[in-house]
Amino acid sequence: MNIHQLRSLQNKNLKRMIELCYKAHPYYQKYMKDNDLTPTDFKSVNDLGRLPLISKTEYALDPESFRLNLELLPDLSLEEKTLSDILYTTGSTSNPTPFYDTAHDKLARLQHLFKSAQIAGIVPSDTVMNLFPLSTVTHQGPINASWATMTIGAKLLWGMTGRNYSNFPVHRRMTDAIDMIEDSKATVLWGITSYVRSILYEAERMGKNFSSVRLVLVMGEPCPSGTRKDMRERLKTLGSINPYINNGYGFTEMQAMAMECSDQDWRHQSTPEQYFFEILDPETRRKVPDGENGMLAISHLNRRGTVLLRYLVGDIVSLNHKICPECGRWEPRFVGTPYRADGVTKIKGILINPSILHEKMSLLFKRGLSEYQFVVGKREGESEPSIDSLILKIACAARDAKRLTREASELVVRTAEITPIIECKNIDYFSDISNNYKFSRFLDTRQ
Ligand SMILES: [Zn+2]
Repeated sequence: MNIHQLRSLQNKNLKRMIELCYKAHPYYQKYMKDNDLTPTDFKSVNDLGRLPLISKTEYALDPESFRLNLELLPDLSLEEKTLSDILYTTGSTSNPTPFYDTAHDKLARLQHLFKSAQIAGIVPSDTVMNLFPLSTVTHQGPINASWATMTIGAKLLWGMTGRNYSNFPVHRRMTDAIDMIEDSKATVLWGITSYVRSILYEAERMGKNFSSVRLVLVMGEPCPSGTRKDMRERLKTLGSINPYINNGYGFTEMQAMAMECSDQDWRHQSTPEQYFFEILDPETRRKVPDGENGMLAISHLNRRGTVLLRYLVGDIVSLNHKICPECGRWEPRFVGTPYRADGVTKIKGILINPSILHEKMSLLFKRGLSEYQFVVGKREGESEPSIDSLILKIACAARDAKRLTREASELVVRTAEITPIIECKNIDYFSDISNNYKFSRFLDTRQ
């Protein structure tokens, strides 16, 4: 397939998607009628510009209005109109937003996962350890890692860690998951970046043998070069010969992840005919050309549950539609490590880009740092908010605390021209604040 064939397939899918939205999508039906638009106004994906951009907040405030009313579409097949799964977006666990999949959407997800798992290099002879937690709210991470493994026909293990529920105590401890990796000779580890790192850290402390592990898939968070190097070194200490770290990029509204095909900083879309992506200038909201960074917007072209068109994901990234020089795949790539559009913040009048701070902080992992978190806002225990403080919480061995406090402080001053207040924490502090899923490495409590 080439880009022209892809566009014509996307246009065909869009035509059908718009027809269904016009008949039965509360939000788009109303918008089109209010603005004198009909399905004939949408001949190609370029016509999507006639529709408004949708923010995360708009979707979160009324998720039901972004769901096709299938009762109004009696002619759809059983697959198309049968509700299959409800997954919830990550972000704020206190107010999770439901994302509805019908059987049609679930099968699309499985196809996406099969292709992503292939790109990542999972093969039928693998034993995959799913390290996503069994969380209170169902996120797509653990579901996708399990289904992707099953689409390939590889063996599946699931750690089922997470916050214990006293009524039905089925959760396992992290150390049980570590035992499983060793006992079952897992070849692939798959989970959230910071959690997989703590698994390796703990396994090292336990003196485990992970010589079977050859591939580690981390997602949900970026994996800066220092973190990657740290994980690789730890895996080698655990006996792995030549471990490969793959940092995928995914979000609930894309259903599954885009995977790295090599150690270049890009990730292939697996089923580009299902989605249309735009990269927009944050100021003008106009499309920017391939290679330029901008806000990512996604439009669903072939869904029956939740349908979002021109939905702003909240990330800054760029696109490339050229054949991949590394693997020869034609599927378009997200280029560069995506970072949060709303991430750049001001402290004491200085602009701070958290992704640059994370890149630098990851270098301290090889110097003994176990975990860290930036918090903008007041210090714990202070009654008066000192709103302009950058607090850096770190965990490390007691013998390294003094040195790392100094090194971390110098690093932040060099990178961001601001002196952080450093607080040393026990490593367990970070598992406690992970709130059952993951914790934010840069938390702005002023918002
Ligand atoms: Zn490639």
